[in-house]
Amino acid sequence: MKKIGAELILPVEGEPIRNGVIVINGKSEIIDIQRESKNIKSSDVQYYEGVIVPGFVNTHNHLEYSYVKGLIEPGQGLPGFIRSIVKIKQNIPADKAAIERADKEMYELGTVAVGDQTNTLITKEIKSRSKIYYHSFIEVYEAIGEINSAETDFQHAKTYLASYDYQGSITPHAPYSVGPELLKLIAEEAFIKRTPVSIHNQETESELDMFMYGKGELFEFFRNMLKPQSWIPSGTSSLEWYLPFFRGSHNLLLIHNTYTQPKDIMFAMNMHTRLFWSMCPGSNLYIENRLPHIPWFQKMGCTICLGTDSYASNTSLSILREMQILQENFEIEFKELLQWATINGARALDIDHIFGSIKPGKRPGLVLLRGMDLDQLIITPETDIIRLA
Ligand SMILES: [Zn+2]
Repeated sequence: MKKIGAELILPVEGEPIRNGVIVINGKSEIIDIQRESKNIKSSDVQYYEGVIVPGFVNTHNHLEYSYVKGLIEPGQGLPGFIRSIVKIKQNIPADKAAIERADKEMYELGTVAVGDQTNTLITKEIKSRSKIYYHSFIEVYEAIGEINSAETDFQHAKTYLASYDYQGSITPHAPYSVGPELLKLIAEEAFIKRTPVSIHNQETESELDMFMYGKGELFEFFRNMLKPQSWIPSGTSSLEWYLPFFRGSHNLLLIHNTYTQPKDIMFAMNMHTRLFWSMCPGSNLYIENRLPHIPWFQKMGCTICLGTDSYASNTSLSILREMQILQENFEIEFKELLQWATINGARALDIDHIFGSIKPGKRPGLVLLRGMDLDQLIITPETDIIRLA
């Protein structure tokens, strides 16, 4: 048994606790939470100045791109970003040491669980022995127009998934990189297995032009991959095109949402009941130099969670930094931000029975935030993290 106390504990589910003590066992399971403990400074309590919060859930990363850190020029927009990453994948071999470092770094930065997009097996072994819980989203994509290969692509992903001995599910990369046949196969599998699906959503402005009219920068970028006349614009937003494929039996994580409009949010919420809006502000600023308009999502009651995306499009894999970016750009209470960073992400990945809040019986991980402004309860530039459990 270990007793850990702090000035303030934010359990996420339940009220803040001043001068509380958390009792954990050797497996870091929460045994008890003692309020206003008189013995807080006794010798058997490890007492800290600062705020204890549950470990963070990062709902969107591509661990396999950790070696791409600093190699892609920021501010190119999504088509330029995709061009760069394709080139890097063709020319620079993936570096396992960088992947391993990123995994350790995330752990130290208070991350307990990650939703990890992957289309290779390079991270498999590192993830299986990591202290972090990983849900691997086996990402499938195809050149547009290549609909004949849907079954092959899907079977290929299934083989990948079967070779993982931990949690995972098959997921479409983005609406512009999967055809209807492939999308049907993925949606059917998710419906039957009730496993979460994650998709890059409305990340660039010209995605709308592509789906609406079959034109624009993203469309031009993909033009040389198209078979003649094989791309038929849906005449809708990308979201309106792909969302009806999915039915309500499983969680659906919509990633980025940088250009999502209120009418899209309304459409989506009427169509699917288990939506999670995964915001990755660090990556959005890196690629598009723009952020999703967060107040719309708050106002419309969306369940928001957070992700860092990968080192290909971010300078850090810290969820605290993502919270900081949002706090600097919008008026959001820390308590709400913390829910996005913990319990909402845990719900998105179907792991909230273990992670996401400090509650007896859970193993949420414990993170100490030092240097916060405790009067206003906000993150400051000095706020840093110590991983306690
Ligand atoms: Zn991504």
